[in-house]
Amino acid sequence: MTHEGIDKPLFYISVAIILLFILFSYWLFRLKKEIRQRKQTEQALIESEARFRNVFEATDAIAVQGYNKHREVIYWNPASEHLYGYSKNTALGQKLENLIIPDEMRETVIQGINDWIENGHRIPSSELTLKKSDGSPVEVFSSHVLLKNSNNEAELYCIDIDISLHKKQAREIEHQAYYDALTDLPNRFLALDRLNQLLNMAERNQQKTAVLFLDLDDFKKVNDTLGHECGDLLLIEAANRLKSIIRANDTIGRLGGDEFILLIGSLDNNNDIQAIAENLLKQFLSPFTIESREIILTASIGIALYPDDGTETSELLRNADSAMYHAKKKGRNTFSFFTKKMNQDASRRLELEEQMHGALARNEFEVFYQPKINIYNGKLTGAEALLRWQNPVLGNISPVEFIPICEQTGLIIPVGQFVFEQAVRQTREWQQQYIEDFNIAINLSPRQFRDPELVDSIFRIIENSHLSADTLELEITEGVLLSGHNYINEALNRISNIGIKLAMDDFGTGYSSLSYLRRYPFNVLKIDRSFIKDIVTDPADRELINAAIAMAHGLNLKVVAEGVETSEQLKYLQALDCDIAQGYYYSQPVCADDFTQLIKSYLN
Ligand code: C2E
Ligand code: MG
Ligand code: MG
Repeated sequence: MTHEGIDKPLFYISVAIILLFILFSYWLFRLKKEIRQRKQTEQALIESEARFRNVFEATDAIAVQGYNKHREVIYWNPASEHLYGYSKNTALGQKLENLIIPDEMRETVIQGINDWIENGHRIPSSELTLKKSDGSPVEVFSSHVLLKNSNNEAELYCIDIDISLHKKQAREIEHQAYYDALTDLPNRFLALDRLNQLLNMAERNQQKTAVLFLDLDDFKKVNDTLGHECGDLLLIEAANRLKSIIRANDTIGRLGGDEFILLIGSLDNNNDIQAIAENLLKQFLSPFTIESREIILTASIGIALYPDDGTETSELLRNADSAMYHAKKKGRNTFSFFTKKMNQDASRRLELEEQMHGALARNEFEVFYQPKINIYNGKLTGAEALLRWQNPVLGNISPVEFIPICEQTGLIIPVGQFVFEQAVRQTREWQQQYIEDFNIAINLSPRQFRDPELVDSIFRIIENSHLSADTLELEITEGVLLSGHNYINEALNRISNIGIKLAMDDFGTGYSSLSYLRRYPFNVLKIDRSFIKDIVTDPADRELINAAIAMAHGLNLKVVAEGVETSEQLKYLQALDCDIAQGYYYSQPVCADDFTQLIKSYLN
């Protein structure tokens, strides 16, 4: 067989087989490579998934839970165990809504998940309050993802972050902003906000709303004498008593200091309010026991009504405040309904306060003098120093009006000092030039005694001016003695011990307690001018004056009659053995220069 003898078909078949073999080898090579690559990818995927699982397993701040399409737990990381209190083993297989969903959210959650799975409406991330295994609530920020598993079935993953602490802190901060730290009552801000809401409601429902402004009486005295801690305890106890009687829908708030506000909505008539105010006052009837001390404390209440006394928050508050102020003036431990007249009083008061500011520095105050005459011999014995205020805007203002405001604002301390310095310096001059034993009487108000420097400053002033102490007389009213504080006792004794005289002013107008005259070192009794006024016409007044003079003389006190305006009055006083007279009959209070002239006229 020759070369050419090879079978042609066989040749072709061989070539084809070889080619096929080569192709097969190449395909096998590619396949192997592909399998290797796929394995690598799968391995990488497994590794990556494991890594992520590890992350979820290791993190303690992010709770991750997986649920199948039936909402049964398929994944529950340790943070979820910690957050919700269910172990992984307990949780696996249980339904979401049976584990951590509060009852009221159950239906919404189930519907929401089904809607997502079926219609693609995703559940947005949000802050939720879910439920722990012990039933207690837990606040979380929850995000959700929906994935498909290898069987193309939906799986829901929830990623929850515990925000309870953050929420608690936020609530605490909010509480601090709206509630009073001492009594835990709504503060001014919140109380006024509630009032606003009440007013809106009252307008819609055509009903009344009441604002009761309550201020504790003499609370400052408690603070001053027993200390602030005691004052704080008292405020807490007072707040508790007030809280205990209000209805669920009413608001009681603390406006600051010893001021409280009570808001009552849905009122049909004013009688309801009167009963509530009476009940409030009743809460103060029994004494407060603070640090085993019994303290009696009363309150004054002012009432303003919507819509009668105002439609705006600020207006109602202002008017209730005016009414409260009025209740204080009525004698405290009482309540007052607002009237228009109070408004005028309040704005006048505000005007006075405004103008009083800086009045001393602007030299608007001046001391006037009114002569005191010896009834037996008609001689000038001295004068009472009386303060005058001349203001460019308001004109002449009576001390009856401005002294109480001075007292309340505390301005009485520098103003009182001014009166002392002026009067003592002036008196010393008159003593040196005209009458050696010229007597000067100066008024002291209760508030001035609260100044611990008072006595020392009086001593300093008379020392500097070389005034003999027994030519100075201090006029005080019963108001000073009423409180019965030890420091007043001490001050009066120190004053009296160096020879300064003490006069009981306005006798007959207050309690006129005779025991005060015995208990304190008084030298002079000043009978109030309201008695002198009727001495000629009213025998009863005459009798009273007679008795007062006899009693004063029995206690070795001199008697001054205030407000003597006529010679008839003077005659009666002479007959009754009164010692000294003061009044328009002799002279009105006059400025220092005019008084110098008056002295001269008496000497001629
Ligand atoms: P007070 O101490 O009882 O003074 C007597 C008041 O009676 C004075 O009123 C005086 O002007 C007035 N008066 C005197 N004689 C007559 C009269 O014949 N008829 C009438 N109708 N009134 C007469 P004033 O000056 O208006 O003072 C009122 C009150 O203001 C004083 O009453 C006193 O409590 C207080 N006050 C005046 N100056 C001072 C002061 O410097 N310090 C303090 N703490 N209070 C003062
Ligand atoms: Mg006086
Ligand atoms: Mg008087």
